[in-house]
Amino acid sequence: MKRTQEEIREQSETYQFNLYKRYPLVLKKGRGARVWDEEGNEYIDALAGIGVNNVGHCHPKVVEAVQKQAGELIHVSNLYYTDEQARLGEELVRMSGMEKVFFSNSGAEAMEAAVKMARKYATKTGKTGPVISLENAFHGRTIGTISLGREKYRKGFGPLPERIVNTPVNDIKALEAAIDDQTVALIIEPIQGEGGVVPVDKVFLQKARELCDRHGVLLIFDEVQCGIARTGKMFAWMHYDVQPDILATAKGLGGGVPIGATMASKKAAALLDYGEHGTTFGGNSLASAAALAVLEVIEEEDLCGQAEEKGAWLMSELRKRTEGWDCVKTIRGIGMMIGMELTFKGAPVVEKMLEKGVLSNCANDYVMRLLPPLVITREEMEKVLDALLTSVKECEPVSG
Ligand code: PLP
Repeated sequence: MKRTQEEIREQSETYQFNLYKRYPLVLKKGRGARVWDEEGNEYIDALAGIGVNNVGHCHPKVVEAVQKQAGELIHVSNLYYTDEQARLGEELVRMSGMEKVFFSNSGAEAMEAAVKMARKYATKTGKTGPVISLENAFHGRTIGTISLGREKYRKGFGPLPERIVNTPVNDIKALEAAIDDQTVALIIEPIQGEGGVVPVDKVFLQKARELCDRHGVLLIFDEVQCGIARTGKMFAWMHYDVQPDILATAKGLGGGVPIGATMASKKAAALLDYGEHGTTFGGNSLASAAALAVLEVIEEEDLCGQAEEKGAWLMSELRKRTEGWDCVKTIRGIGMMIGMELTFKGAPVVEKMLEKGVLSNCANDYVMRLLPPLVITREEMEKVLDALLTSVKECEPVSG
C-alpha cells in the first residue's frame, strides 16, 4: 500500500530525535543531478547531499559495485583483510599524494582520528601548547571536533577538551603570533564549507606550512567537504601546493555509502601505535567497493576537469547576472564549491528555490552554497541559476 508523504513525515517526527529542520519533501529516487519525491515531482539537486554525491545520484558504476559487493561480502570487521579495502587504500594513497590511510565512517570520525594523532604527537614530543584551528571552522559534531569549531556548535556541551585556540582565516599576523615551539597542530579547511564557502588564501596556507615546519607543528587539512574532486582537483591542497602532514576526507568518497579516511605522511601515521585507534565498520567491504567505484568514475570521466570547467562557468554567470545587485556581497569559491554571500539571511531563498524544483542550501546564515553533483549538465545548471536568481529577487527587490 502506497503511503502518503504526510504519513512518512509524521512517522519520522514521532520516532526520531528532533534534531533536523527538514524540508517537507520525501525523496524516493535519484539519478545524476536529479531526485524525485514520493509523488513523482522532480528536483535538481544543487547540494548533492551536502557535498556527497559528487559522481551524481546512483551512478551506474557505483550501483553495480555496491550490488555486486552486497551479494558477496558486506562486512567482516578490521580483524581481517579484504581485497576491496586493500585496493582502496592503495588508490587513495596514490590519488592523495599521502603515504598511509586509516578508514572510518564519517567526516567527524576522520577528523577525530587526526585530533588523536595530534594529541599523541604532544605526548611524544612533550609539547604543552594548544592545537590551533581557524575561526568559523567546522570539523564535525563529536565532542572532540566541536571543541575545534564554531561556538554555535559547542554551546551547552562543556566541559570540552582544552588547549584549543582559534585564529582568524587569512590573518597571517595572528597566526604568526599564535604559533610557537609548544604548538601541537594547526587544523585548516582549505575552503571552509559550513563557515560560508570561504577559500583560504594561498599565501596564508604557504605561510602556515612554513610556520609549522619552523616550529615542528603538525599541519592538518580537513578536506571532508572540499576533497574528492569537488574543487577541480582530487584534493584542494593541490591548488595551493601546500601538502599537509595529515589529510582527512569523507563526504564524496563513498558516493553516498558512509566512509571516512584519514591520510598521513609516513611519520605522522606512525604516531598511532598498534591498538591505539580503530573502528568496527571503518572501510568495510561494501563501503570500500563503493569508494573504489567512485574513484574510478572520477578518473574515467575526468570529474576534476568537469568540476573546474563547470564551476568556472557557474561562477562567471553568477557574477555577470548579478552585476550591480546591492543584495549580493560576494561570489566566491573554487570549482564546484560556490558561495554567494547575501546582505540578508538566505533561508527564505532556499525555500523559494525548493518551490521552483531546486534543492539548495544556505551556509552561515547569509551564504547561498552550491555544491552540485560534478556530473550536472549545462541545462540543469541553467535551471539552478534561474531558480537561485529569481528567488533572490523575490526575497529582496534588486536595484541595479
Ligand atoms: N569537516 C567538514 C569540513 C565538514 O564539512 C563536515 C560536515 O559537514 C565534517 C567535518 C563532519 O562530517 P560528518 O558530518 O560526516 O561527520
